[in-house]
Amino acid sequence: MKNTMKLEFDSISANESFARVTVAAFMTQMNPSMEEVADVKTAVSEAVTNAIIHGYNNEVHKITIFGKIENDMLELKVVDQGVGIEDIPKVMEPMYTSRPDLERSGMGFLFMEAFMDEVQVESKPGVGTTVIMKKKILKHEA
Ligand code: ATP
Ligand code: MG
Repeated sequence: MKNTMKLEFDSISANESFARVTVAAFMTQMNPSMEEVADVKTAVSEAVTNAIIHGYNNEVHKITIFGKIENDMLELKVVDQGVGIEDIPKVMEPMYTSRPDLERSGMGFLFMEAFMDEVQVESKPGVGTTVIMKKKILKHEA
């Protein structure tokens, strides 16, 4: 099985649920369990929220999600052209947040890593950020 998709939307919080539901719909062809769908939705929400509030500082620009299915592997890339990240290992540490003023808790990357099998971040200050997440979807009876 091989399939790809590209989803582009405005960086407004109303689109967090749009993105997570659309990715959930894309992955249904893999026959995922409810739990696997819930895991992926949570990870997508965290990445999209980060693009909105950190990447774009709540200004409205575009967020793109590239989805790829290859056999039992789901790959998602969440891309923004926002402020970017200077020190990637530092921001990925549990409890690190640059916005304690917004009552963020620095748990987003931890959730992404907990619910997906692999999380990679590529970023350049002033250019933007790409979060690449992979998850193997187990075989389930139809
Ligand atoms: P929480 O997700 O718990 O509300 P948080 O968003 O601060 O808090 P993480 O999601 O783990 O925590 O992100 C950690 C930090 O990484 C952020 O505070 C921010 O500085 C940086 N960051 C994350 N995503 C992006 C992005 N797309 N662009 C720029 N900076 C980002
Ligand atoms: Mg976050």
